[in-house]
Amino acid sequence: MLSQLKRKYPLKEFTTIKIGGRAELFFTPSKEEDIIRLLPKLAQDYPLYYLGGGSNTIFGNFKGVVVYTGNLKGWQIVKETYEGVYIEALAGTPIKDFYPLCVEKSLFGLEMLMGIPRITVGGAVAMNAGAYGREISSVVEKVIYFDPTEGVFKAIKPQFGYRSSPFPQKGLVLKVLLKLEKKKESFKRVVAKLSRLRREKQPLSYPTAGSTFKNPPQGYAGKLLQEVGLKGFCTKNGLCFSEKHANFLVNRDLKATFDDVLKILDIAKERVFREFGIVLQEEVKIVGN
Ligand SMILES: Cc1cc2nc3c(=O)[nH]c(=O)nc-3n(C[C@H](O)[C@H](O)[C@H](O)COP(=O)(O)OP(=O)(O)OC[C@H]3O[C@@H](n4cnc5c(N)ncnc54)[C@H](O)[C@@H]3O)c2cc1C
Repeated sequence: MLSQLKRKYPLKEFTTIKIGGRAELFFTPSKEEDIIRLLPKLAQDYPLYYLGGGSNTIFGNFKGVVVYTGNLKGWQIVKETYEGVYIEALAGTPIKDFYPLCVEKSLFGLEMLMGIPRITVGGAVAMNAGAYGREISSVVEKVIYFDPTEGVFKAIKPQFGYRSSPFPQKGLVLKVLLKLEKKKESFKRVVAKLSRLRREKQPLSYPTAGSTFKNPPQGYAGKLLQEVGLKGFCTKNGLCFSEKHANFLVNRDLKATFDDVLKILDIAKERVFREFGIVLQEEVKIVGN
């Protein structure tokens, strides 16, 4: 059990933007019993952060427990009808692991997320990840999660919002029941097209954490950042609002620190507020200090 719980653990490599200090504790459960046995106790003593692929997370030093779902992987088909397939998937399963099945059976519902590096089922559900007019909420039938305060597993069909869900506030997502839809199109072709669009618009060859700010009701965050002159703006350690997409921060030279992140976020929020009176809200999760 001890090997699942590490102290002062470095976090950088668990994020796509490659920035991060250390976690006081790093917990990697492999099965339900590990969660039941340890999580309620840890939750009493520390703040928790549930970590999937780290594609939407930027860490500083975190005086809490990072609960990493990297060992909670796998999925199975639980039912198949003429119109679709029900799949039960563990939270740490990378979304890309469904690609061969979706190709084989022409299953739709996750195609818009296939090009995102390291995104997991749990992280996609917690964020209600979406693109090209579709969100993962459209295929989520049920979520089984662990409530660390009560120490029990529960099941719900969650209510989702724009890039939001009841998670992680309600607890650790363990399993998700997805209903993917059979169609007569080629999954491969659709994903190739969406991935091309993504490559054209997003700086995928750099370490990044995706969209930095949520789009406010008044418009696109990227457009606002561009209009206040921040497209291509960099800190001295090379943390930049991408030239390709102003709402994506890129760690250009792999030298950026957590302080660079805090600084650049402040500059952006301040400029957009001064110019347009709009308060930008982070989409990316900033964890620790
Ligand atoms: C190049 C790039 C492109 C991107 N494009 C898009 C896009 O088109 N659309 C989009 O929506 N997002 C996009 N993102 C952002 C990111 O991929 C999504 O937010 C994704 O849902 C995060 O999944 P993850 O597993 O990496 O989560 P993490 O970054 O590990 O965590 C994100 C959030 O989910 C919570 N969480 C993770 N696992 C669990 C769990 N098991 N139980 C409870 N809570 C959990 C975390 O606590 C945190 O609040 C992009 C990111 C990158 C790097």
